[in-house]
Amino acid sequence: MIKANDSNRKSWIPVPKDSDFPIQNIPFGVFKKSNKQTCIGTRIGDLAIDLNTLYRLNYFEGIPLKNDVFEKKNLNEFLKLKKPIWRLVRDRIAEIFDEKNRMDSLYQKQVLHPINEIEMMMPVKVGDYTDFYSSRQHAYNVGCMFRDPNNALLPNWLHMPVAYHGRASSIIVSGTDIHRPMGQQLVGNSTQPIFGPTKLLDFELEMAFITGQGKALGEQINTSEAENYIFGMCIFNDWSARDLQKWEYVPLGPFLGKNFASSISPWIVTLDALEPFRIKGEVQAPSTLPYLKFQGRKNIDINLEVKISSNEFEPQTISSSNFKYLYWNMSQQLAHHSINGCNINAGDLMASGTISGNNPGTYGSLLELTWKGTKPIKMPDGTERKFLKDHDTVHMRAHAKAKKYQIGFGELRTKILPAKKQSFASN
Ligand code: MN
Repeated sequence: MIKANDSNRKSWIPVPKDSDFPIQNIPFGVFKKSNKQTCIGTRIGDLAIDLNTLYRLNYFEGIPLKNDVFEKKNLNEFLKLKKPIWRLVRDRIAEIFDEKNRMDSLYQKQVLHPINEIEMMMPVKVGDYTDFYSSRQHAYNVGCMFRDPNNALLPNWLHMPVAYHGRASSIIVSGTDIHRPMGQQLVGNSTQPIFGPTKLLDFELEMAFITGQGKALGEQINTSEAENYIFGMCIFNDWSARDLQKWEYVPLGPFLGKNFASSISPWIVTLDALEPFRIKGEVQAPSTLPYLKFQGRKNIDINLEVKISSNEFEPQTISSSNFKYLYWNMSQQLAHHSINGCNINAGDLMASGTISGNNPGTYGSLLELTWKGTKPIKMPDGTERKFLKDHDTVHMRAHAKAKKYQIGFGELRTKILPAKKQSFASN
């Protein structure tokens, strides 16, 4: 029993109805306070909680923590600790903010920060980033559009969680604007590429998990132990320039069409907090190789939503999906990732791949929602979207719903600015 998950627990911090952050959540993140100091924190309701100050005030007494673990600029040192320590800290936070234990008001002033007075920072220094491709409907849709509806899934897809290694340095936190990327593209039936701003800028609705310290090089993590190495999850937007991607991806896969930016939501929701929302995934047939077999309920029921807004209109929902639609679960992904002896480190990020359900309203990219631009989506100001325009903002949200509360991730919000002017050496 994870004490922090007690569904009857209430906090002395007010939690608005439908808040993503009841006392049962207790996510971890990094924020900059109004005095510009950065600290590791959590959130209940609309208050961010400074864990470093809580530590200084001796609230974590008895838990084996280094005295600067919450003073760091990211969660990586905390991630190096093991799951039992993460759990002790989360359980302790639940106790501190339980309605039975109201905090001295002098302490409250030092520890609590209204969410609109802080700035959320990158929670983790991501060492390595891998993007899976684990939604069957997404893989099918892309296969239909770019290959053949009769052979939409490539022969390996049902046998392994396919993935590519992405770029860690350009992972950015919610609220960070991006510029429309430039690159090579083929236009119309031309065989000669041109250079310019992407015309087919797209989002990919994904979730990602963050790892703790894995095993050494040469060792493997199996599916039954994989969750010990998963700290928590965030929303992930794998920005994609479809024209750049289409021209460059043969034969080595995604490169500049993807690595200009990927956005994450700022609070890492622990796997523990998501425990009550486990469900069974779809039956995997054909049967997998033994190292990919697993026991128990490994999918999680998390509602996902994408909205677009612009200077002209308020956020408009364009997709409602669910994390449960993944064919390959996180334990299988991690087992596959390490089956060859690849080492996993604290602060690695592994994204799910675009999550698309079975019907068009649940597709996780504009590529699929507009079916390669053939079915534009009407916006409230009368304009249409095949792909994203400059000054559009993409909003993603995720939450798991229980009877008495919901465990949410907050918002992942990114605005698109026009392409930056380029200068080139001329000869
Ligand atoms: Mn992706």
